[in-house]
Amino acid sequence: MTDDGERGTPGKGLVQGLAVTLKTMTRRSTTRQYPDVEPDLPPRSRGVIALLEENCTVCMLCARECPDWCIYIDSHKEEVLVPGAARARQRNVLDRFDIDFALCMYCGICIEVCPFDALHWTPEFEYAETDVLDLLHIAVEAGLTPLRALGEVGRRRGGVLAGELRATATMAALGVPRGQALDRLIRRCPSDGVTALVAAIRRTERHGAPLGPALSGLAADARTQRAQRLRERAARAAPKIQLVVALLLVPATMLLVAAALTAALL
Ligand code: SF4
Ligand code: SF4
Repeated sequence: MTDDGERGTPGKGLVQGLAVTLKTMTRRSTTRQYPDVEPDLPPRSRGVIALLEENCTVCMLCARECPDWCIYIDSHKEEVLVPGAARARQRNVLDRFDIDFALCMYCGICIEVCPFDALHWTPEFEYAETDVLDLLHIAVEAGLTPLRALGEVGRRRGGVLAGELRATATMAALGVPRGQALDRLIRRCPSDGVTALVAAIRRTERHGAPLGPALSGLAADARTQRAQRLRERAARAAPKIQLVVALLLVPATMLLVAAALTAALL
């Protein structure tokens, strides 16, 4: 029935609906497999504000002009000997440049006012890290010792593995030899990832090998393996979905069509 009380063509609405469904089903999918596939962002996208450290003279203009006061800069002075000069000159050396992105409103004023083009927008937009290895990498690169990094990541992240990392750091802090604490971690979390992590920490302690690149490599490997597992699961799920469609959805749709046509004709 139409709004003015006339009978429309029986089943017309249903056929129109199915036509829309069919058109959508046959259209090329534009779904991006993020985070496995990175999106192609335009080069001028506004993501993280990055610092070109060698250009920064610690003039503090950006921190002074920031309307949110969310730029934190620490520096110290160094003497530079200039050949032929009567006295050594002093220059500022940057120790810390942080932006609190929880406060930043992306106005871009800091970038505009920097007289040395030290600040610029990057298309990088992923601020959050959830993977344990990535978090450990960040903590180590920030200057924490390996065991302190285990403790901090374990304290901030939930889950069984995080609890074990926290316990390992606590045991080491209470005086248990590091080797024993790490052995216990492997026993309690017998996975390839944890074994590789402990091996990397031991290499750092014995030979002084930098831990940051090793953690970065481990995190990349873990991501590749995770993506591979997901692809395999998706490939296994496809035939099951087709079976469900063939056995349930197609008969159900046919029943609906038949019911609608019968109701319209009666
Ligand atoms: S973009 Fe604006 S709010 Fe953010 S740090 Fe720069 S000046 Fe401050
Ligand atoms: S305005 Fe530029 S040069 Fe000055 S402190 Fe900020 S980033 Fe460094």
